[in-house]
Amino acid sequence: MSEQTDNFPDLGLDHRLLQNLEHQAITTPTEIQAQSIPLALAGHDLIASSKTGSGKTLAFLLPMMHRLVKTRALSKRDPRAVILAPTRELAKQVFTQLRALTSGGQTKIALLLGGENFNDQAKALRKDPHVVVATPGRLANHLEERSLQLNGLELLIMDEADRMLDLGFAEQLTLINQAADHRLRQTLMFSATLDHAEVDSMADQLLKSPKRVAIGAANAEHKDITQEVILCDHLDHKEALLQNLLTNREYQQAIIFTATRTDTERLSALLQKENISCAALSGEMSQAERNRIMDGFSRGHQQVLVTTDVASRGLDLLQVSLVINFDMPKQAEEYVHRIGRTTCRRQR
Ligand code: ADP
Ligand code: MG
Repeated sequence: MSEQTDNFPDLGLDHRLLQNLEHQAITTPTEIQAQSIPLALAGHDLIASSKTGSGKTLAFLLPMMHRLVKTRALSKRDPRAVILAPTRELAKQVFTQLRALTSGGQTKIALLLGGENFNDQAKALRKDPHVVVATPGRLANHLEERSLQLNGLELLIMDEADRMLDLGFAEQLTLINQAADHRLRQTLMFSATLDHAEVDSMADQLLKSPKRVAIGAANAEHKDITQEVILCDHLDHKEALLQNLLTNREYQQAIIFTATRTDTERLSALLQKENISCAALSGEMSQAERNRIMDGFSRGHQQVLVTTDVASRGLDLLQVSLVINFDMPKQAEEYVHRIGRTTCRRQR
């Protein structure tokens, strides 16, 4: 990556974390990591942005883990850190990176996703996890049901903050903030885009004299992605071109974005008829079904995923080298997130 600077040891991280990174063959911090980690370690609240794929997850997980291993807990029972992510898929990805980072250590972690069994989660919470990764709605439910208290919370982290607000989680964020309202709390807010009026007012509400880190323009073009426009005459022609593209182009895996759930299903059936291995994903599906499809696709069980914008944010799908906007997104910003799903930007 061209945007790498410094070394992890220079950033002041605990040696156990450095060792863990070494095991994961992660050697050089990305720019967002190099800039955010020292500020977070110094105890500042942070509002940080950089494009998708630039390593924001470790930019908050590393200073969080440093604080957890270096300092004593404020409370024995309450979680020390909560990480909120807007969708179940994103929360799962954060959790996976957290699990890798905590492997072999003492830190207990839990994942609370909407749509999954509440009582199982309440049971997991009774084991007093140190870190909870959650979608905001479900975390708020646990607070309301008193299966969780946040009086001892030391770190509140919001990933894809703008997206959480877009999805209407402002009320839940306020509730979570109030449940963990004390002067020792540190709050970190991350997003691909922060040029969002609602994000500013949420930051005013949640953060104390935050430091700002913004790497590149939020909507900066992905320069190393080749973009093409293909014109077509009508829907039949468009579908024929799609089949042609997927049959004749070289790619590892592809994602096709459509406007509606009905389109994902129709196109997926169409492609399967042409013997293109393909799965459909949409926001209306059950949690279990979405999990199953995302797991299968990320393991390479299908070559093509047809989806609505539900999959366009932050997901880290390493094999995707082709993104097709079958329907254009409604917002320009969404386009950047969609095409950011390709991995040609990463040297892998
Ligand atoms: P973002 O949240 O900014 O979209 P992620 O945190 O999901 O990006 O990181 C994208 C990918 O880059 C992940 O697979 C992650 O493991 C990898 N990654 C993150 N930081 C580094 C690093 N310093 N060196 C190598 N790979 C990294
Ligand atoms: Mg991310």
